[in-house]
Amino acid sequence: MADMKAYVQEVLAQVVKKDPEQKEFHNTVQEVLTTIVPVLEQNPQYQKAKLLERMVEPERVIMFRVPWQDDQGEIQVNRGFRVQMNSAIGPYKGGLRFHPSVNLSILKFLAFEQVFKNALTGLPIGGGKGGADFDPKGKSDNEVMHFCQSFMSELYRHIGPNVDVPAGDIGVGGREIGYLFGQYKRIRDAYDAGVLTGKGVGYWGSLARTEATGYGLLYFVKNMLDDKNIPIEGKTVVVSGSGNVATYAIQKAQAMGAKVVTCSDSNGYIYDAAGIDLAAVKEIKEVRRGRIKEYTVTHPQAEYHEGCTGVWSVKCDIALPCATQSEIQLEAAKQLVANGVIAVGEGANMPSTLEAIAYFQQKHILFAPAKAANAGGVAVSALEMSQNSERLTWTFDEVDHRLQNIMTRIFQQAKQNSAQYGCPGNLVAGANMAAFVQVADAMLAHGVV
Ligand code: NDP
Repeated sequence: MADMKAYVQEVLAQVVKKDPEQKEFHNTVQEVLTTIVPVLEQNPQYQKAKLLERMVEPERVIMFRVPWQDDQGEIQVNRGFRVQMNSAIGPYKGGLRFHPSVNLSILKFLAFEQVFKNALTGLPIGGGKGGADFDPKGKSDNEVMHFCQSFMSELYRHIGPNVDVPAGDIGVGGREIGYLFGQYKRIRDAYDAGVLTGKGVGYWGSLARTEATGYGLLYFVKNMLDDKNIPIEGKTVVVSGSGNVATYAIQKAQAMGAKVVTCSDSNGYIYDAAGIDLAAVKEIKEVRRGRIKEYTVTHPQAEYHEGCTGVWSVKCDIALPCATQSEIQLEAAKQLVANGVIAVGEGANMPSTLEAIAYFQQKHILFAPAKAANAGGVAVSALEMSQNSERLTWTFDEVDHRLQNIMTRIFQQAKQNSAQYGCPGNLVAGANMAAFVQVADAMLAHGVV
């Protein structure tokens, strides 16, 4: 029998050699490939077809100039990207991120993750990701619109309802999707509603899309806790972030009877022992686009701490990282465990480093990996595509009900695969193996393409 561990190491070495500076991409490839060895051992046809070598190479990478004019009349130039990673299961699908840190390594990591996450949803979507190194913070509405229009003036030729369907991510919410869609519609002179998801509900957006990632995370975490007969009611929860994912994770956690005591932004975090007042957070972040420290103005009992990492020093039962990648490093993981955390659910993409995940697993902490736990957002995006295709809209309850079923199914798949391949309870490996088999089989069916 061929040595599949050696095969994986060979592919990893090639990935590093080809793009030595793409650390985030290396990490995610390593996370996925090292956990699927048992599947490779039982299915030698995957190695024969060089599937790993094919999967780590994007089908297409598009990089482009985004010139725009600011309110002072100055010309600004940003860099735009779209990584079309894998279309074996359906059109490329994945968000757009506008953040100064955006580069090819981060987008390749996100696109690679997306391929497997999308497969887990059981819906017909391939994987991609895109964005720009544009910082929406401090920009006027007018500037954001000009940027979005310039970005779409190039992107439009690479996307379409059956080709590639972007959505939001960090820095891209309902406002940006609106501007992007307006420009696409204008250039194409057609109402291709299914070209973007996360649209406003007044123009073919899906009800419950805004809530989907955060709600889905809680549905997944609840499945994981129920499986061990641990109630979520009364648990203390630490959440990072205060954007789309964090907001609706907090809302659903509270609705389930848990007490959320923190949230954060890239400047610092608040701790409110009385429980986060979500209406106040929404007012600051969604309405005023302000900073989270303003929370203490109306809630003087709450504490504000500068810096993001301190949030993990707050004692809790459940930790939900919902801000960005690598926010839980080994030190933070150790602090959480020392403080008695029982479960970690990843709302953000790859928020825990590989060392942090290994530590949680070693300490038998229930761990819900991003790929599985935050798949609710893209799942409802795919439901938005379905509604757009049939030119109908479903009720909030119908979408939410489907979302709950999808998250339960993802949990069951991850659990069953972990048991089937000899690592029971390891949901990281279980989710990776379940997703990999689906993508690999579709690729095999398509021949050498
Ligand atoms: P938002 O832009 O709405 O919110 C991001 C939040 O994280 C903000 O509070 C932001 O603070 C904070 N943040 C961003 N960058 C950093 C950083 N470098 N350090 C600390 N905090 C930071 O994004 P989303 O809520 O949509 O996305 C959050 C995460 O969830 C991302 O990892 C994204 O990829 C992932 N995700 C999102 C999905 C979705 O449907 N939106 C679906 C699946 C995953 P500030 O305001 O200061 O920038």
